[in-house]
Amino acid sequence: MRSLTRTEARDRAASITVTSYDVQLDLTQGEEHFESRSVIEFTSLDGHDTFVDVLPASLLRVTLNGRLLDVETPQEGRLFLAGLRASNMLTVDATMAYSNDGEGLHRSVDPEDGLVYLYAMSFLPAAPRIFACFDQPDLKSPYRIKVTTPPEWIVLGNARATQTAPGSWELVVARPLATYFTTLVAGPYHSRSADHDGISLGLHCRQSLAPHLDKDVDELFTVTRQCFDEYHRLFGIRYPFGDYHQVFVPEFNAGAMENPGCVTFRDDLIFKAQATEALRTSRANTMAHEMAHQWFGNLVTMRWWDDLWLNESFAEYMGYRVTTDVTAFNDGWVEFALSRKAWGMAADQRSTTHPVAGNGAVDAQQALSSFDGISYTKGASALRQLHSYLGDEAFLAGVVDHLDRHSYGNATLNDLLGSWQRHSDKDVLTWAQAWLRTSGVDTLAVAAQPAGGVAVERHNGSPQDVSRPHAITVSWYRSDGSHQDSPLVLTGPSTPLALESFDGSGLVLPDSADESWAKVRLDPSALAVVPDMLRSIDDPVSRAVLWGALREALRDAELDPASYLEILEAALPGQDDQTVDLLLNAAVSYVGTFLPIPSASQRLAGVASRILESSRPATNRQLVAARALIKLTTDSDLLRAWRDGGSPEGLVADDDLRWRLTLAMCAAGQLGMDDIEAERRRDPSSQGALRALECEASLPDPVTKAAGWRAIVSDRSLSNYSLYALAQNFFHPDQVELTADYVARYFEEIPRNATLRTGWVLERVAHFTYPRYTVTPEAVQLAEICLARSQLDPGTRHAISDNLDDLRRALAIRERYSSSLSQRSD
Ligand SMILES: [Zn+2]
Repeated sequence: MRSLTRTEARDRAASITVTSYDVQLDLTQGEEHFESRSVIEFTSLDGHDTFVDVLPASLLRVTLNGRLLDVETPQEGRLFLAGLRASNMLTVDATMAYSNDGEGLHRSVDPEDGLVYLYAMSFLPAAPRIFACFDQPDLKSPYRIKVTTPPEWIVLGNARATQTAPGSWELVVARPLATYFTTLVAGPYHSRSADHDGISLGLHCRQSLAPHLDKDVDELFTVTRQCFDEYHRLFGIRYPFGDYHQVFVPEFNAGAMENPGCVTFRDDLIFKAQATEALRTSRANTMAHEMAHQWFGNLVTMRWWDDLWLNESFAEYMGYRVTTDVTAFNDGWVEFALSRKAWGMAADQRSTTHPVAGNGAVDAQQALSSFDGISYTKGASALRQLHSYLGDEAFLAGVVDHLDRHSYGNATLNDLLGSWQRHSDKDVLTWAQAWLRTSGVDTLAVAAQPAGGVAVERHNGSPQDVSRPHAITVSWYRSDGSHQDSPLVLTGPSTPLALESFDGSGLVLPDSADESWAKVRLDPSALAVVPDMLRSIDDPVSRAVLWGALREALRDAELDPASYLEILEAALPGQDDQTVDLLLNAAVSYVGTFLPIPSASQRLAGVASRILESSRPATNRQLVAARALIKLTTDSDLLRAWRDGGSPEGLVADDDLRWRLTLAMCAAGQLGMDDIEAERRRDPSSQGALRALECEASLPDPVTKAAGWRAIVSDRSLSNYSLYALAQNFFHPDQVELTADYVARYFEEIPRNATLRTGWVLERVAHFTYPRYTVTPEAVQLAEICLARSQLDPGTRHAISDNLDDLRRALAIRERYSSSLSQRSD
């Protein structure tokens, strides 16, 4: 498919206006295909030729104003339309293919009970895989959708679905929608309903997950109600899309998608197994995030994909803010600092970095590649900076002004800046130039002043010569555990700090409340006090800032990985559950890359083990530590004993725990295919099928590796989740030699996946399969040669480029600390 360019979109929007879509879908035509009829009424302002987007399996019939068009298969997803009148009616009849990659109309069969579930994911650029449309965000239109289904199914969508006869459904969406957030959910879904403040609420999932949804139904509805109340209070604008359904659907690529009135979530957010508190917090946060989009994104939509960040940064900021302020899940900002920022900072320091705003998306495909930690986390941090700069009142007044002015329409960043400027006497445009139109991360460091006292230095991390103002808090932590906070606005390279009776002891931490977007670089002399400080600082957000400083120093080869590991060993057992959870999992991903210490796994397992031993039975802490220990331990007796029923008291021996143990034992070569098959029979659920695939892919056996690889590079029938299960477990830090041949094959064969797969799946498979544990100059060279090819799908290029950047960092760490690593490794 040819990706729509910004210029084409601008021309088309200037030329036509869509009046209505009338879509009919027949979902009773078998397992492969469905029938799709689109009747589009649109006006042409200038009579110029245009094109409609459609990606059919076969095109049956097209008429324009009653005239049959002589068309064959559309050229690269486009059907050209000539001879337009002022008012036009286009009818496109097509046979469409169901998808198995999470885009378009995804069809999956639950292996547990054989039931079929469908959902539509229209986001960028999959709507034409379902119906013919003018697929760009600023051609909004009301819709009418008629759907034929098996009689036992239910149908949900962007408006209330009415069953007019058994298996016949109709939805009338009176409000104009953009094509990318139209959806349809159909199947024998299990449903729960409630009302809140005049809004009908629905929660839905597969039948096989029904008991697990039911057990959390109060939590889910409570979060929903609390978020609605808060958004109504903040915006003063009623939720505009009627009913509000939250549907947990199978094999969903993203966390969730904000379709108006019918949000779709990945259904592993319905917890079959015990869920950690961090996971519950993250789910509440996702719910708040998607709800924020109902106003910001759905009511007012970006004009073009270069403002995608505006949707995501705003929803990210509001999601964390609202979850923290009004729900029981009030420690979200700790996760933001520890996890989301790790994601965003990595993205902002790679060669693919881009400014928050104006990501330069010349076409829709490129926009998809900018859907990263910069658009979400850096953008949200920038909005927090703007919030401190303008104050809450002006910040919200600007947002409401924007929503009011552009309701049901489209707007740009400049429109939003104008709204903020109307409500503030601060210079919003200059602020936006510095923060939103430049890339890179500034570094903040503390420097002793010759006359005593300290200053905070700002080192520009942007390739542009820019002076970003940072409104932060600086804290001085004394060794007795007390601290002094001082607000500071950094406007130049060095800003002196007024600290009462400062004597040079303890630790001075810039941005201790995590209000900005900057790396904090600690003085090497401060490292000695860091473990003590990590134990004594009360505020988990400030501790997260300190952990973040260590993480960035490690990645920059400024901190000896042996020191990082020692600090983890010394300080992690004293941290709160969420910090333990997120940092242990991050450390697992550093083994073999940023932590090139042969005993790293074993020593981290020691940390997990200490935390486990000191945690009370049946607590979140016990669960967190046990799961980390399973990933890290090399103690085969322990894994076997736990799997045989001897796990610690209080730990629920459910399917999830068994699969975790089975995976660890498979990767270590302690179990084989027969054992995996036995597990699959024990757990016939869809999760069981995926876990079995993960186990197979991880076996240190050349035959199963070969079969797994063949599937990754050639099997079109595998669903997105099955592919991810294989791709994520193919390379393993302990199997570098076994898979050595596949390093060169990766660069040869993965780019060819573009002939098999598209979109999200293509980029993800390239990322998940990357041979990241082969940290050698030869691996760098292979990646460079691959990137030098001109014919490379943009998503694959992005994935390889990002992983190459990480590989170079991992090499730099090895080079810089080689002597200390060889001395200390044991
Ligand atoms: Zn979002």
